[in-house]
Amino acid sequence: MIEIFFYYISSMTTSDFPGEFQEETLPGLGEGEIIVIRSARRKKSISAYRQGGRIVISIPARLSKADERVIVPEMIAKIRSQEDSQTPGEADLARRIDELLTELAPEITIRPICVTWRPMRERWGSCTSVDRTIRISDRLKLAPEYARDYVLFHEAIHLQYFDHGEGFTEVLSRFEDSELATAYLDGYEAAERALLAPAELSKLP
Ligand SMILES: [Zn+2]
Repeated sequence: MIEIFFYYISSMTTSDFPGEFQEETLPGLGEGEIIVIRSARRKKSISAYRQGGRIVISIPARLSKADERVIVPEMIAKIRSQEDSQTPGEADLARRIDELLTELAPEITIRPICVTWRPMRERWGSCTSVDRTIRISDRLKLAPEYARDYVLFHEAIHLQYFDHGEGFTEVLSRFEDSELATAYLDGYEAAERALLAPAELSKLP
């Protein structure tokens, strides 16, 4: 099932860019990951892309509400299925955790019972050691393997070590690309903060 949320960008109004943009959202407002932009410049074409973890859909300003209600979910489904075909499934995540622990921390023999993708904006992952469940932010779906591995490994270590103490740090330090991974994750977060407004904004003269 596809969950649809709509995100309202208060900083972008028609008065800021007269004649260029009309920004509107569908009913059912709430914080979420879908942004719909009505652009006066756009005549027919519709575009949809990922930006900063959100899906941005640009539609012509004159597109009817009825068409919007049909087209927007279609575009969301298209983007999601495209991504799904390129990203590891939850079984793959569990398998990867097993590989990482076996290779880098053979003394940890606990394995998670389930590993799931979650729409988490504030965190990269979380682990509940009591029921051995791990959740990974879906922002990592298209991340390079080393960054995803780093988060998987981090959460997997929590199965054994609850806090970020010495034991935890020692095990985590065995991950070779940790600097690279941290740089990717920090950079992603910085970009997310900086790019809250749609890319269309930067195309304005
Ligand atoms: Zn942690």
